[in-house]
Amino acid sequence: MDCLFCGIISGEIPSAKIYEDDIVYAFNDINPAAPVHILVIPKVHIASAADINSGNSDVIAHIFEVIAMIAKEKGIDKDGFRVVANVGENAGKTIDHLHFHLIGGKKLDLKMG
Ligand code: AMP
Ligand code: ZN
Repeated sequence: MDCLFCGIISGEIPSAKIYEDDIVYAFNDINPAAPVHILVIPKVHIASAADINSGNSDVIAHIFEVIAMIAKEKGIDKDGFRVVANVGENAGKTIDHLHFHLIGGKKLDLKMG
């Protein structure tokens, strides 16, 4: 499978790692939208949030634990942050490996749609 984010997990493609364990990998977005812009991804290839099911949702629960931990580490948990998962063309998703954007460190644009 030719997947950019699987390549980042395996180390074939370089990334600025923030955190890693057996289940998740987190790294800086290459084109940050805010002072903190981290992508948190499952190590297992899940295509998108539309592919979350009872067989893999334990991974997603763990991802959100890691997101909370990173937000604290980055000192953005008190002021607030945003977690975004884009799905498909209408949402502008460009990479077919589920990724949660963790965005913060400034007052964010309130426009969501
Ligand atoms: P999305 O529109 O939700 O699919 O977002 C994909 C994100 O991946 C964008 O914010 C890109 O800036 C980011 N991105 C693409 N390639 C890389 C890369 N090699 N390393 C880090 N982030 C990347
Ligand atoms: Zn992948």
